[in-house]
Amino acid sequence: MPDEHVPSRPSWNCAACGRPWPCEPARTRLAAELGRIDLAVLMWDHFEEAARDMPHTPAGDLFTRFLRWTD
Ligand SMILES: [Zn+2]
Repeated sequence: MPDEHVPSRPSWNCAACGRPWPCEPARTRLAAELGRIDLAVLMWDHFEEAARDMPHTPAGDLFTRFLRWTD
């Protein structure tokens, strides 16, 4: 298992801890590395890709998971 808390696709579970990505360590790292706008842009891209990978997951759930926490 890699140490990096990165998404493994198409499940979008964390490659390191297996939790739904972005897991807590991933959120902490991303928030520390990126400004608020860059973070929102990056997560929006992930949100769109995840929506394509998981067409049966409600968009509202994905929005909460990928974007709500960046506010
Ligand atoms: Zn993780």
